[in-house]
Amino acid sequence: MDRAGRGGNRKVEAAFAEVERRYDERKHRLRNPVTAEIVAMPIMGASKSLEDRHTLFVSVQAVESGLLDGLIAHEFGHMLRTEEGHASHSLAVYAAMEKEVAIPKGAEEAFGQAFNHIQDIYADDLAFPVFNGTGGRRAYEFFAGWVDNNVNARGKDRWQNLGLAASNGFAVGNLVRHRLITGDDPLWDRARAFDRASGFETVDGFVAFYANLPKDPAPRAFIAEVKSLARLMAQSASPS
Ligand SMILES: [Zn+2]
Repeated sequence: MDRAGRGGNRKVEAAFAEVERRYDERKHRLRNPVTAEIVAMPIMGASKSLEDRHTLFVSVQAVESGLLDGLIAHEFGHMLRTEEGHASHSLAVYAAMEKEVAIPKGAEEAFGQAFNHIQDIYADDLAFPVFNGTGGRRAYEFFAGWVDNNVNARGKDRWQNLGLAASNGFAVGNLVRHRLITGDDPLWDRARAFDRASGFETVDGFVAFYANLPKDPAPRAFIAEVKSLARLMAQSASPS
């Protein structure tokens, strides 16, 4: 369905079919049907999963970019995680989390983003082998650009900057997790320089957190991970 009126239905359908085929080769199949909508929105894409169906939202700029299949592979990963009831994508686990995880005051938005990146890690554990191709350059280029965007977005609000540092930690941590970056890569310097300019030193902690998330945690273990993310954010926020 083309809601933005800019075309691209066939392109999205073809890209989706190809991603679905590559997942199928790895024995990852969705039970529920997917409807795609092309919409005007500031982010590349998103998805929404209900009991019996998924909706994939693709932005106009994603359709026109060379990353359409990467985006679809990522969102497809979220859909698979939702269907399998993975702790990171489970409503029951969110409810328990809300009761148990103390989020520092003022950090709700930054923490919400950092939590979304936990879900992104688990979606990408499935998506990377599907879209990354040989040598892992696509993922590297994408996440290097991600860090550069964050660096350029630095502002005056400490929590906001901490959210960006966590986002850098996610980007680099995702590459570390899939062994697509070396310890002396210049991307580390850019992420650490952002921290220094913001008055904290935290990105290495976030990288380690995202890189080492356990593959398939039970709900209790997952909530313990979320708590450690909240602690990491609270520690980083207090001026040293
Ligand atoms: Zn995502």
